[in-house]
Amino acid sequence: MIVLANLIDGKARAPRGDRYLDVIDPATSHVFARCPDSDAADVADAVSAASQAAAGWASTPADARAACLSRLADRIEARLAAFAAAESQDSGKPLALARTLDIPRAIANLRFFAAAATQWSSESHAMERGAINYTLRLPLGVVGCISPWNLPLYLFTWKIAPALAAGNTVVAKPSEVTPYTAWLLGTLACDAGFPPGVLNIVHGTGPAVGEAVVTHEGVKAVSFTGSTRTGVAIASAAAAQLKKVSLELGGKNPTVVFDDFDFSDAAMSTIVRSGFANQGEICLCGSRLLVQRSIYERFRSAYRERVGALRTGDPNDATSDLGALVSRAHFDKVMGCIERARQEGGRLLTGGERVQVDGRCAEGWFVAPTVIEGLPPEAATNQEEIFGPVVTLIPFDSEDDALANANGTPYGLAASVWTRDVSRAHRFSARLRFGIVWVNCWMLRDLRTPFGGSGQSGVGREGGIEAMRFFTEARNVCIDHGS
Ligand code: NAD
Repeated sequence: MIVLANLIDGKARAPRGDRYLDVIDPATSHVFARCPDSDAADVADAVSAASQAAAGWASTPADARAACLSRLADRIEARLAAFAAAESQDSGKPLALARTLDIPRAIANLRFFAAAATQWSSESHAMERGAINYTLRLPLGVVGCISPWNLPLYLFTWKIAPALAAGNTVVAKPSEVTPYTAWLLGTLACDAGFPPGVLNIVHGTGPAVGEAVVTHEGVKAVSFTGSTRTGVAIASAAAAQLKKVSLELGGKNPTVVFDDFDFSDAAMSTIVRSGFANQGEICLCGSRLLVQRSIYERFRSAYRERVGALRTGDPNDATSDLGALVSRAHFDKVMGCIERARQEGGRLLTGGERVQVDGRCAEGWFVAPTVIEGLPPEAATNQEEIFGPVVTLIPFDSEDDALANANGTPYGLAASVWTRDVSRAHRFSARLRFGIVWVNCWMLRDLRTPFGGSGQSGVGREGGIEAMRFFTEARNVCIDHGS
């Protein structure tokens, strides 16, 4: 049995309370590791170590900070196969996906922000009266990074990399559901050159560890990715201390297919992937598929055939398109949502049931990719995030109709629009209330661009300069040099 530890002050530490949580492989439902069930005392130790390291790290030259991030990336890359296997075992996702998406992207995050540390500059403004203003971007001190289970290392590094690059010290809390790769990363941090206390990782539950990170007075800002419900709780807890927060939350993303859609193989397969990649457990997945009525029948039959051909099975099997859902609780939630859709009057086009996988995965939590039609836009199934392999098909008549449907939930994370009409692409994108709009593509990511959602999907933006801004405070210096 693997026993994970916290990383505090550069050392592997058992939780003070000596309590542990089971870490379960969702594909087999077997416990394979134990993870610290830490509490506020462990968080206090981590914040204390991070506070002591803060001044030294902030004054470390940017190229030396960048070198630590790059070395960490190199060390993960050298162990890519082991990291991918760990990520797949922890989350149930196909091993091939962990190897081609999750871990390479985690490495890219570290390298991208290593470069950002050395390359970003601040603005200056000359005044006509003989004065010059310039802006200093100062690290905040100790920052908290709280991440979810769906893309564990990918989102963990998406937060810690800019925080460290900008000169902050970090107390990070990975999801207790998928702590494995964050722990592995922690075991490489000292060797990569991070001084003790610069990166601290405290494992445990949201109420015990997450809340302690958010409410600790020594933590100056919190970057959070997770559910809208938790985001609201964090925003209100942080408000008491006027603490800076960045919140990347849930979504109910529309994919809008107009009547000039080309039905090419590449386009169809991207649309299928946008609904079912990582079992639909990506915040960016399109779970509402809006299709113009004039092509609805043709689209529906092509789509059903492709989704029906997806293979759900052992994540280690290279032919599996979908693996297991992350936990028993999440499996129950998704199956409950499918049952609710039936009760709302939805018709199942394909899927809707548990997939029984033979052999070592006989007790895993597998759900068949599911497509539902016949529900009005206002049905709960079309309004609430399911975060599983469930897509609803909704016909629309006009561009205005599509817009009202697409914008018609409280969320606003990402939309994907399919049209060959360039004018419509621009016009429609401008009217969508989403942080990210993809046209004729999905999840094509450029790490320099702002990433985040509006409405119930969050507050603030990550990525590129936006992340560096979040993790720093601007100070204006005005020098009068003559009169
Ligand atoms: P979650 O909100 O349950 O947990 C996320 C993290 O917050 C975990 O580490 C958890 O332990 C911690 N946490 C829980 N309660 C807390 C509290 N009161 N105070 C502080 N921390 C607390 O979310 P999840 O189930 O792990 O992840 C799935 C959700 O994340 C989905 O809603 C999904 O849409 C969202 N998500 C959003 C993005 C994005 O970029 N917008 C990306 C990935 C996932």
